[in-house]
Amino acid sequence: MKDTALRPRDLKEALILRRETGGIPYAGGTDLMVRSARWGTVNADADRPVMFIGHLEELRQVATEPGFLVIGACATLSSLRDHPDVPVLLTRIIGSMASPAVRNMATMGGNVCNASPAGDTIPYLLAMNGTVLCASTDDRKEIPVNEFISGPGTTILAPDEIVTGFRIPRYQFDHEFHKKVAARRANALTKASIVALARKIDDRLVDLRLAFGAVGPKVLRSPDCEQALVDSLPGTNGRHEREEILAAVLKRYARILSPIDDQRSTADYRGTVVIRLARHFLKEVLGLSYQP
Ligand SMILES: Cc1cc2nc3c(=O)[nH]c(=O)nc-3n(C[C@H](O)[C@H](O)[C@H](O)COP(=O)(O)OP(=O)(O)OC[C@H]3O[C@@H](n4cnc5c(N)ncnc54)[C@H](O)[C@@H]3O)c2cc1C
Repeated sequence: MKDTALRPRDLKEALILRRETGGIPYAGGTDLMVRSARWGTVNADADRPVMFIGHLEELRQVATEPGFLVIGACATLSSLRDHPDVPVLLTRIIGSMASPAVRNMATMGGNVCNASPAGDTIPYLLAMNGTVLCASTDDRKEIPVNEFISGPGTTILAPDEIVTGFRIPRYQFDHEFHKKVAARRANALTKASIVALARKIDDRLVDLRLAFGAVGPKVLRSPDCEQALVDSLPGTNGRHEREEILAAVLKRYARILSPIDDQRSTADYRGTVVIRLARHFLKEVLGLSYQP
């Protein structure tokens, strides 16, 4: 176990140190410290030094580009919640995370790199078709978030790379819905969650996106199910017909969920609750009143 802690002056130096030492990036430390073998120290669980990056200004910025919002990996959750350019839906999601004290330290980069299926910013990124920006001394990459996260707690980040930020398309939806199911409001990790977005033209559904948290090894989205709804609804104005299409697609969703039992919840509860939340959202979007 190495006791070294590195503190680069800027991103360039951080990338060199990452390549030369394999230093483990440490942003807010709110996940890394929990996993640390020696609680309260800067040691991580590997034979590598820890590298502080949370202070690097290049990684703390929020910028707008034509059609996109770019969020620096080390922007704290608190700073994002208060930023005027951050979309309301994302500020609401961040407001449901942890407590103000944790949010002052925690970063979006840490949330995504931790790659928990219950990580609260991941369903938003996935639903928005957001990408992860990675850098090494020699290269820059932009990877869709679903490809970047390879499984529970794992990513495809190379040993010489650092996540520098996230590029999120600036896209307006007519319907936006987020629900986090947790034991309580503050400091409670997600049992299950959903981010749902829909866009209509002349009352016709043209874009639908549903991302589910904590009901599989990764945050889950099904372009097939989304497309099935978009394709089968035009011309079906009858309520009964719409209800049948919706029920069939929700059954498809239920088949692809693979929730687990753990200390926070049961697989059965997780699966049931996200399907109900999806039904609630879709009934509203399709103009079918909600019946519990
Ligand atoms: C009390 C408490 C409550 C919490 N509540 C929630 C909650 O409600 N919802 C939720 O989703 N999470 C919650 N968390 C988990 C945690 O706070 C978040 O996941 C947070 O966003 C992690 O950010 P961080 O900067 O602290 O990450 P760190 O702990 O610094 O890092 C996490 C992981 O990401 C890697 N990493 C960090 N930044 C980079 C980078 N730029 N490039 C490459 N790798 C990087 C680290 O090496 C580490 O493996 C909670 C944690 C605590 C302690």
